[in-house]
Amino acid sequence: MMNFIFHTPSGKDEDVFEEQNCVMNHRKIFSKFGKKAFIITGRFSAEKNGSLGDVKSALNEQGISWVHFNEIEENPSVETVVKAAEIGKREKVDFVIGIGGGSPLDAAKAIALLIANPTEGADYLYTPEKKDEPLNIVAIPTTCGTGSEVTGVSVLTRKELGTKKSIAHKIFPEVALIDPKYLRSASLTLICNTAMDAFGHMAESALSKTRCSECLDAVEKGLKLFSEVKNYLVKAASSDEVMSDFTWDVYEKLILASMYGGIAIAYAGTTIPHGLSYQVTIRHNVPHGKAIGYFQYGFLKEAPKEERDRLLSFAGFSDIEELKKYFEVTCGKEKVPAEILLSAVDEVAANEPKMHASVFSVDREMLLRIVSYVSDKEIVND
Ligand code: NAP
Ligand code: ZN
Repeated sequence: MMNFIFHTPSGKDEDVFEEQNCVMNHRKIFSKFGKKAFIITGRFSAEKNGSLGDVKSALNEQGISWVHFNEIEENPSVETVVKAAEIGKREKVDFVIGIGGGSPLDAAKAIALLIANPTEGADYLYTPEKKDEPLNIVAIPTTCGTGSEVTGVSVLTRKELGTKKSIAHKIFPEVALIDPKYLRSASLTLICNTAMDAFGHMAESALSKTRCSECLDAVEKGLKLFSEVKNYLVKAASSDEVMSDFTWDVYEKLILASMYGGIAIAYAGTTIPHGLSYQVTIRHNVPHGKAIGYFQYGFLKEAPKEERDRLLSFAGFSDIEELKKYFEVTCGKEKVPAEILLSAVDEVAANEPKMHASVFSVDREMLLRIVSYVSDKEIVND
């Protein structure tokens, strides 16, 4: 159990509660935000893992009505967010509840912004101009990777550009309600992929130029939790997906590691592996966490040795080869076509802020080396 106030880097205080039956225990909190809620979920999982049922019971008990939008797809698109926002405006909802993995949580933030700015369209998401504050958001995570419940980030798919991009606004939820029990219905693949994302958030933010003591503190805490559970993932992945020894304690450490990863990127952001991942996800249909995992080995191999070794040791890896093996066992070995990797390199090389985001200097040659580790052949310039 862990309850605290997260003093977010944008100056807003967010209430974070983590415990068993968290939603019901804190049900009174919903009435602070109004009389009509807009629940945002993906298609099926919120129903299956019990989170949606808990939220509906909590709202019923508080006499709060709701509208439910359940069409958020993985890597949510701007179009879906706009569609949901139109419904939210029409229904005159007072606040937004995002339930799910990073996709519904990220979508909830963008939807809350558009509802609060009813005359603005999709372009406003990517216009760094401050107008009305988004509706209040309650975030309820059901995966263990993005930490979106404690970040200001909302990553959406821009179909017209063939890539994913964070919106131009930092939107932190008012409250995060974290209950590890929702992870129980997740497949081993989902757990492993999302845990890899959490690792990536911690490694990338710790090597980001904008890292600070709060970020590094979260990284250390999160990686230590990750180190305590990673062997459960290895064991399960090596033995036909048997998760029988995944106790409450394991799920709790996984979801808290994810939360610390979120806090870390809330301060310092992500860098090269996240930048490289978007083409792999969009064009090769690889889930976000796995796509992040592809590039951790190459990225860390290029990082200053002392920094790399400290991070690896927090995470319980004796060296970088052990990290590589961990990734292959838990997330899989499949290769990404060279042409997609090259387009990922092009995309990041053209992104000046990303190229300069790390504490060590990155050039195009280095990007080519980083992606070569996950290709059948060496990736070279055209
Ligand atoms: P996700 O895309 O939200 O969900 C992946 C799949 O898992 C969906 O099919 C979902 O089903 C299912 N699922 C969710 N919870 C489940 C559970 N408890 N049991 C069984 N199935 C469950 O996955 P994610 O990796 O958490 O999020 C990825 C997205 O987050 C990407 O768009 C990424 O760019 C973004 N992201 C955001 C941040 C941030 O700081 N905001 C950081 C990193 C990544 P349903 O569709 O039926 O719900
Ligand atoms: Zn991520």
